[in-house]
Amino acid sequence: MRGLTISAHGGLDRIELRDDLPTPSLTSDTQVRVRVAAAALNHLDLFVVGGLPNVRIAPPWILGSDAMGTIDLVGDAVTGLGAGDRVLINPGLSDRTCSHCLAGEQPLCPRFGILGEQLPGTMTEYVVVPAANVRRVAHDTDPAEGAAFTLSTLTAWRMLVTRARVLAGEHVLIWGIGGGVALACLQIAKLLGASVTVTSGSDEKLARARALGADDTINHHGVDVGRELRERTGKRGVDVVVDSVGEATWTQSLGALGRGGRLVTCGATSGPMVTTDVRRLFWYQWSILGSTMGNDAEFDAVVEQFRAGRLRPPIDRVYPLEEGREAFARMQDGKQFGKLVLRIAP
Ligand SMILES: [Zn+2]
Repeated sequence: MRGLTISAHGGLDRIELRDDLPTPSLTSDTQVRVRVAAAALNHLDLFVVGGLPNVRIAPPWILGSDAMGTIDLVGDAVTGLGAGDRVLINPGLSDRTCSHCLAGEQPLCPRFGILGEQLPGTMTEYVVVPAANVRRVAHDTDPAEGAAFTLSTLTAWRMLVTRARVLAGEHVLIWGIGGGVALACLQIAKLLGASVTVTSGSDEKLARARALGADDTINHHGVDVGRELRERTGKRGVDVVVDSVGEATWTQSLGALGRGGRLVTCGATSGPMVTTDVRRLFWYQWSILGSTMGNDAEFDAVVEQFRAGRLRPPIDRVYPLEEGREAFARMQDGKQFGKLVLRIAP
């Protein structure tokens, strides 16, 4: 079996296409095996290549969290799915037995893991997952769109719908438009009827974000985005900030936040340590919300939006698996607007 792997952490030169990987078999009767048609990149994959604290890989480690494909094996206890079904994969796996799982909050599971991070990944020909982690889509679904959809849209949905509870008419600020989660947040915020301001260091990306529905844009180069937004809103500030940048933007994010505002984060690409003035936190009655991946109900909700054509991920480029390293390089350079996808099978 072919697959994009690493055998040690480091730079992108560690990424290696192998053709000697064992094809996985079912290890439980509640699993399905999926023949992968396409796999998509996420920022997480770059962190896995570079090495994450407390995450140990077993070489050769298959990269990738997102995929769409066709079921080719079904465990005996699986109902409602069959060989030949085209499916999207939710890359978040949980034990399904702890109190959080039983309460329907799988991402809070102490044994939560993500394909490609704690479990072998999707940038390969076959992947085995619990049946609970797949959802059927139409046979004519574009595999690149299907692969590009799940992780970022599921993450964005939980951030805006479940955690920040964005309402129609509210004002949402999204940092760094161009990446998968930020773009999904823009699409979902518009679907919810919010007014959206996006930032980027690239005027070209801002123009493309406007075409996707962004109401206002800020080129954040050399600008205090917090101050800028207070000016643009007549000192009111925004209701919700989506900040996955961390250290570099946190203070400006809080500066942009109005009374009763919510800051929601799912990452810290610029660094994890931030400063918050607690006096402003309680006086303005802010909420600071963490969010990771999504639960089964949220997975159902986003797949429903996908099937209805209301949420489809913008695609930056599709590469053959053999050119996987180039796709990683484009992501590392931050050049993409939309998702980077690897095509694996027809
Ligand atoms: Zn659990």
